[in-house]
Formats: sequence, C-alpha cells, structure tokens
Amino acid sequence: MVKIQTKRAIEEMTSYPLGFTPEELMNQYHLKTIRKMSDNENIYGCSPNVRESIIQNMQKLFLYPDGKTSLLIQKLSAFYNLNAEQLIIGNGSEELIRLLTRAFINPGDEAVLADMTFPRYEANIVIEGGISVKVPLANGVHDLPAMYEKITPRTKMIFICNPNNPTGTIVEKQELYHFIEKVPENILIVLDEAYYEYVTSNGYLQSVPLIDKHSNLVILRTFSKIYGLAGLRVGYGIMNSNIVHELHKVKDVFNVNQLAQTAAVTALENKDFILDCADKNDKERIFVCEFLEKNGLNYYPSQTNFVFIYCQFPVVEKLISNGFLVRELKYHGYTDAFRITLGTREDNKAFLEVISQIISERAVENGNNARKS
Ligand SMILES: *Cc1c(COP(=O)(O)O)cnc(C)c1O
Repeated sequence: MVKIQTKRAIEEMTSYPLGFTPEELMNQYHLKTIRKMSDNENIYGCSPNVRESIIQNMQKLFLYPDGKTSLLIQKLSAFYNLNAEQLIIGNGSEELIRLLTRAFINPGDEAVLADMTFPRYEANIVIEGGISVKVPLANGVHDLPAMYEKITPRTKMIFICNPNNPTGTIVEKQELYHFIEKVPENILIVLDEAYYEYVTSNGYLQSVPLIDKHSNLVILRTFSKIYGLAGLRVGYGIMNSNIVHELHKVKDVFNVNQLAQTAAVTALENKDFILDCADKNDKERIFVCEFLEKNGLNYYPSQTNFVFIYCQFPVVEKLISNGFLVRELKYHGYTDAFRITLGTREDNKAFLEVISQIISERAVENGNNARKS
C-alpha cells in the first residue's frame, strides 16, 4: 500500500479513458481488420514529402532537438505573416493547454468552458487547483451568452473549442467576434482550432487577424489532425508575445522532438495536400450526413472530420464488434451517442451498411413486438 498522499487537487480525478487499442479489439472480437474511426486522425495520412524529410533527418537522433524550434517558428511566421514572438510550439496542442493552465491558473481561479467539450481543458484546470465552470451547449453549440454570464472576479480563462469536439459544431462568427470584444482583457480566451483546416462554412470567424488587437486571445492549432502527424506530437499557439514569454517559463526545454519539428516544417510546404484532404473530407461529410438525414438519425452539423451521432438505441457495441472502432461518449454521460471519424468512401459506405442493418433489425423486432401485444 502506498502511503504517500497525492496532491490534493488530483485526488478525485480519473485518468483519461483510453479505451481499447485496435489490437485488443481484434483479439476480443476475432476480427482480421479494424477501421480506426475513433480519434479524428487524417485517414489519408500525411503528405508524402514529410516521410522523405524524416528519413533524411534520421542521422541526428543522438542530438537534442532545437529547444527554440527556430525553423518551424520561422516557417509558421511566414505562413501566417506573424512575428516569431507571437508563436510557440508544443508537444501537441495538448501540451499548450497544459502550459496555459500551468502558467496562469492559481488554486481557486475559475475557468469557463462548455459542457461538453474536449476533456483536456478540465483535467488541466483541476490539476492546478482551479475550478472549472461548465456551461451546457445549446443545440450542440457553445452558448456564448451563458458563458459570458459566468464571468466573475475569479475568472482567469475561457475555453472555446471551435469547431467543438465532440460535436463538430462551430460558433457563429459575429457572435464570437462580439464575445471576444466584450470579455475583459484580464481573462484569457483560448480558442482551440484543432480542426480549423476542415472548416468550409463562411460563418466561421477568422481569428488570427484579431491577435494584434486582443492581448488576451490565444489560438491553438495542431499538426495532429489534417496534417496527419498525430503520432509525432506537434501543435502550435498564436498569441501576444507577452503570453508566449510566460509559457516559456513553464515549458520543458526540449519539448518538441526533432522528427516532429522536421515533419511539421515539411508538412507546411505542401498546401495542396491539405486542400485535397479538406475537399475529400467535405464530400464524405455530405455523403454520411445525407444518409443520417434520410434515415431520421440525429446528428450535429459538423465542420470537422468527425460526426457526433445520437441514436436512441444501442449501436456502439454492434459497430465495434463489426470492426468499426468509434469513440464512445460514456465519459460525457451518453450511452447511445458516439463520435465517428469520417473515413474514405469505402469506410463510410461499410459503416453506413452496418447502421442500415441495425435499423432494419430493429424494424423487424418492433414489428414482432407489435404483433405480440
Ligand atoms: C485532437 C485535438 C487536439 C489536438 O491535440 P494534439 O495534442 O495537438 O494532438 C486539440 N484540441 C482538440 C479539441 C482536439 O480534438
């Protein structure tokens, strides 16, 4: 028995529910293949020139990476036309969430966030002894007026996941713009835009131009999603240089590994690959949602590479046993809802076939039950 008292703030915490690995599922259900549609990775992988650049940089693995991530910062500042001082690179954008709470949350400080949203915000708030103030979504969308109402003198940070994970929805641009204008400058507004490149709606706010005007605005983006580099762990933040300065105090010295830096630099050069993936994704999103619509299934309109589907009957077990690894949402309190990452047309067709099967089996069952009663 361990006799060491845990840090008080984390005593009541649970660790992130990682779920089954594809290998574990294949064993359990005796499957030959699994379609991994649970973590919103880019089904099309990464740009081919990235693999080449990694191979060419394999000779230097005995050296520490560049702790300043100079080349990647330089490339990103040119990409966005920003000053290098307005950028920071993280071991995934998840690390940047942690650095933000580490640097800015004192015990007892409040942070406002949506219920439900990306679970890492709350976890990191809690670890620092902060209080997460959760505001229910309105129809799957951040309820900005209600979030604004929750601001108190103790509020330190507001998280807005746009598009939101797990619902895939965006907040309307005018509404978000006015929200940013209204929130006092001593409260950090963290806009997590992990799925930015997938958005096609013109009702989406372009946030980067607002950085110069709003010293409290932080934008998080990542190479894990459309850039297809989730396995390497690299994300970035765009914000006022004074915030970057504070985050540097709490970051690990060599937080972004060498291959991740190389890969990200190369990935930025191939804009066509990103546009092509976004385009394919848009077609698949429409294909899947048209089916859901036709079959009367509830879902949230997505601006991402995943869809939140809400069935009033159990489907998740059946999907998983058929080799479709989807994200269960029990963690968020839903038993019959799930999130599915869009796949190729073939993946999506196969997935919808299983759903069709479940629907027709239910129709037969309901028919039988009707006859019995
Ligand atoms: C996937 C995801 C991230 C990305 O995390 P990384 O650490 O960059 O891999 C961040 N925020 C949201 C909402 C996500 O869904």
